[in-house]
Amino acid sequence: MAIPIHFVSSKVYPKLTRGRFSHWRTGFVIVTQLLYFLTPWLQWQGQQAVRFDFGNMRLYLFGLTLLPQDLIYLAGALIASALGLFLWTMLAGRLWCGFSCPQTVYTEIMVWIERLFEGPPNARRKRDAGPWGADKLLRKGASQTSMLLFSLWTGLTLVGYFSPMRELAANLLAGQIGFWEASFALGYGGFTWLLAGHLREQVCKHMCPYARFQGVMFDRDTLVVSYDTQRGEPRGARRKQGAQPQGDCVDCGLCVQVCPVGIDIRHGLQYECIGCGVCIDACDEVMDKLAAPRGLIRLTTQNAQEQGQLAPPMWQRPRAVVYSSLIATVFMVMAIGLWQREPFRMDILRDRAVMARETHDGYIENTYTLRVFNTRRDARSYTLHVAGQGVVGVRQQGALTVPGDGDQSFIISVLADPEVLAKGSHPIEIALQDSHQPDDQVREATRILMP
Ligand code: SF4
Ligand code: SF4
Repeated sequence: MAIPIHFVSSKVYPKLTRGRFSHWRTGFVIVTQLLYFLTPWLQWQGQQAVRFDFGNMRLYLFGLTLLPQDLIYLAGALIASALGLFLWTMLAGRLWCGFSCPQTVYTEIMVWIERLFEGPPNARRKRDAGPWGADKLLRKGASQTSMLLFSLWTGLTLVGYFSPMRELAANLLAGQIGFWEASFALGYGGFTWLLAGHLREQVCKHMCPYARFQGVMFDRDTLVVSYDTQRGEPRGARRKQGAQPQGDCVDCGLCVQVCPVGIDIRHGLQYECIGCGVCIDACDEVMDKLAAPRGLIRLTTQNAQEQGQLAPPMWQRPRAVVYSSLIATVFMVMAIGLWQREPFRMDILRDRAVMARETHDGYIENTYTLRVFNTRRDARSYTLHVAGQGVVGVRQQGALTVPGDGDQSFIISVLADPEVLAKGSHPIEIALQDSHQPDDQVREATRILMP
């Protein structure tokens, strides 16, 4: 579906609306922000429920601890999210942009703050165009300071996803916040202030790549916000009975005044439209006053508007079937992988600095370093087993115990009989078994050298 591009760059002062879509938008702002701000404070089994620990290369997700080797799950989640966005865009157009995208959600919050301190759109427009005075300075100062504080709070919360939130808050209160934490909080907060507080809809129009390629994901059954030209035109103020027949649009301009990106939906589908639906609320209110049916602007599809055809169910739309099957496959593979995943891992390094050597009892000894990662919250001890032709034993220094959520390296030596194994390199298998839960074990293949 081709979507024309228009460039409008004057500041937009959207008027407040009430109605289904406005309420849904407010609801989404509240829910997404509660999720964002509260998640780093959540505790699970005595520690922060969601945290990326870059220092120790771990991702904590409630009871789950993911290591760098588990990046595949993160990649799977990203692929599923991207496919989910494609599917959602094909079915429902840009409802993601209008209701959940952080840029539009934060812009909405900034507009609320602006409205609180600087008044309704007309007053703001007049004040912005007028000279600086005490009133303008005071109101602008209060609104910009509030936006800045809110932005810094978003930045600090983001840092709380990487650095323990409770410690961060305590350090902040004590004035002892670290350099990196402060830099990231200021950086992210500064961007929030700039992008949502100042650039606002310009980001959606000129910087967001999704706005540019969404058209290729649309089809004739995609839900879009549309003006019903047949019903609305010719537009104009209501005339007396008996005059020329006219459409239902009274050209009140309310749909343009409420639009957060400042476009006129009556010009047809435009790439700037974020699908927020507040123009539908505004127009429905006008229709109610005129005792005309609602829906002059509505969420509909091209096929419904032009041919009165309802969108077919999802399973009859090939692209929807492909996207859904791919998402289901990715989730299934991830679920199976997580289910079969052992709660500990082992990396084996052959000690290349120490050559294979002969022991006093005539065996050949090879030395290895085992690095064991324990993803359980409590400390665990492990039992070592080595299997392979000619292997006669294994030596370890002390118990193989790894603290909860930690990793530890151990030096082990494998002994082989030179009368069984010829000169060269031979395969062996090292297995590690949880001493308390013998069913939990990992095996790794490596090689033993016979000089
Ligand atoms: S709000 Fe409705 S009636 Fe008013 S200009 Fe827009 S489409 Fe026409
Ligand atoms: S045209 Fe309507 S749906 Fe599109 S951005 Fe403007 S108000 Fe939102």
